[in-house]
Amino acid sequence: MMRQFLYSLFVAACLSLSLCARPAITATIGINAAIRTGVATMPKQCKPGKTSPEALGWRWRPGTLVRVYYLRNSFSETEREALTRSVNGWNNALRGIGSSVVLTVGGERDGVSQNNASITVMRGIPRGRERVGEIKYYSLSNGVVRMTVTIGPAVTDLSALTSLMTHELGHSLGLADCYECRRGTTAMAAFRSDNRGNDVYEPSECDIFVVASAYASETGAQANIVPIEQR
Ligand SMILES: [Zn+2]
Repeated sequence: MMRQFLYSLFVAACLSLSLCARPAITATIGINAAIRTGVATMPKQCKPGKTSPEALGWRWRPGTLVRVYYLRNSFSETEREALTRSVNGWNNALRGIGSSVVLTVGGERDGVSQNNASITVMRGIPRGRERVGEIKYYSLSNGVVRMTVTIGPAVTDLSALTSLMTHELGHSLGLADCYECRRGTTAMAAFRSDNRGNDVYEPSECDIFVVASAYASETGAQANIVPIEQR
């Protein structure tokens, strides 16, 4: 997640990294898969790149219980509650689409979790200028997949924390950034400023639809992990 005004710079960087390792998964493929498997059709207002994010090509294995931990001394109790609101928001969405993936808050811990299907959330400086948050995926050869979310020290507003966490959890479920998306339409849009969020505090209908599409084609095989490290 980064702030909006560096978007053009981001695009330039992206092009030199061959499209930021975004897989060539189009919304059309997702939609067809969703239709085949009986997921509701795409809500009318969802236009990829305008009001709807696209899928990264990553998803958790069916039935995965993803544990979200907060690194001790990173967040106050009220901040943890604000972060947990976005965990609950995504959980409600996952339940609503019949996904067998469940997020659960594992509480505070002293160190970064090395366990499979864990996400450790901490304070820190996200890499790259003007970033407010960052998610890193670690995919180990023994099959362990774990993630860390780093939240910049400037993000202190509770609503902004919920907004940012909803965005980063969107990545953890396979959504790509959509900095060009209209504000208020998707959790994957850019932040206005450190503490103003992006006006989305729970996954939007379009976010949920794209996640549902990606998980509709669940075959038991895990999609390839995408080597993204932030956004
Ligand atoms: Zn992002």
